[in-house]
Amino acid sequence: MRLKFDEITERKRQYSISSGQWFPAVDGVSVMAVAATLEVSRKDAQTALLRGEILGSLRMVCDRCNEPYVEELCCDFLYLATIREEAAREEGEREVAETEELTLFLKDGMIEVDELLAEQVHLAIPLKRLCSEVCRGICVGCGAVLNQDPCRCPEEQKITPFTVLKRLQKQ
Ligand SMILES: [Zn+2]
Ligand SMILES: [Zn+2]
Repeated sequence: MRLKFDEITERKRQYSISSGQWFPAVDGVSVMAVAATLEVSRKDAQTALLRGEILGSLRMVCDRCNEPYVEELCCDFLYLATIREEAAREEGEREVAETEELTLFLKDGMIEVDELLAEQVHLAIPLKRLCSEVCRGICVGCGAVLNQDPCRCPEEQKITPFTVLKRLQKQ
């Protein structure tokens, strides 16, 4: 979806975007059942406010056990879309740092809503992806997915942190 800056007025307009097509699956992450809402209004002659929310699910692969899992996606955002020249940023840089707002410099007076949404989803993707805080991962010895299967390593070769822990617990 694209919005024309000139057509945004002081009167708030709401948009619902139900399709997740704007987010291409990258790096093992895809978006499922996603819906976004966007509220757009003019702030002044050169600036418009874009307030939005994205709800859905992220389908990712666990860093530890390599199994797919689903995590809730929920983020809201606020952009200041401006037709000001980007060079004017320097004087306003301090004020940007004080607020949560992200400034968007429009090149041809068009707001690329799909790009904003994709950017927000990228920001919401966790750096460390874990299916669960207590994910036990994959045994380096036998390759067993330890959340589902027991380790098949011969007893004397078991050197996982868990066996060390168990020994300590037995004492
Ligand atoms: Zn896992
Ligand atoms: Zn094993």
